[in-house]
Amino acid sequence: MNRKYRHTVIAANWKMNLLPSKVKAYADELKPLTAQAKWCDIVVCPPFVMLPAVIKAFRSSRISTGAQNLSDKESGAFTGEVSASQLADLGVHYVIIGHSERRRLYGETDSAVNGKIHAALRENLRPIVCVGESEQERETGVTAELVSLQVKTALRDVPAQKMRRIIIAYEPIWAIGTGKTATSEDAGAVCGTIRSVVRSLYGARTARAVSILYGGSMNARNACELLSQPDIDGGLIGGASLSPVDFAAIVDAANQ
Ligand code: PEP
Repeated sequence: MNRKYRHTVIAANWKMNLLPSKVKAYADELKPLTAQAKWCDIVVCPPFVMLPAVIKAFRSSRISTGAQNLSDKESGAFTGEVSASQLADLGVHYVIIGHSERRRLYGETDSAVNGKIHAALRENLRPIVCVGESEQERETGVTAELVSLQVKTALRDVPAQKMRRIIIAYEPIWAIGTGKTATSEDAGAVCGTIRSVVRSLYGARTARAVSILYGGSMNARNACELLSQPDIDGGLIGGASLSPVDFAAIVDAANQ
């Protein structure tokens, strides 16, 4: 982390877990546990149907709400989709874009990710853009090249002043939900590669200011070590975010 130049962000990705009726209890437990976390931006990303309950439950707290996906279209006949303006109107501030589960299970391409980033930025939402390699790609030694290409395509035609709203999450696919974590050095090195791609596209000042998160089986035990890497500015947390106590312990580590 480098708090002199950028925000520390800890974001919860609930995926398709928990229930609307349980949101208040979750929030009532998490809020006091994170009340002292002044150095850390905290975001909770529930499924779409739980967004109103999450916004309500965290109102008058430091915790912001994010969606897990959005449409690249503005409005119209797109059954089952949710637009950026609908999210913004509800009071959502962040949106995860290009999570590996969306890419792998629902065929989202780098180009689709780019379209969604533009849609989010039009409504002033803050995209949390996910990139990362599969186990096979890591074994064949193409991680840096692949992640660089994902970042470049995702950011195509994003102007410099909008780049300041974007957060990038490096999530090696083989580490998501598996209990396997990248070593802090490997994760830090890939986050460093991502920062140099941003530098090549937008210059040193923008690259220095962009928050880059690590995601992939981050928990209270490994968070400190991962976050001690200079280019890792926070975490995107799946499994461990389902328990307020476990999630708050990661926030605590990030707030040190
Ligand atoms: C994720 O889904 O973004 C994630 C990092 O999941 P987990 O923490 O469970 O690996």
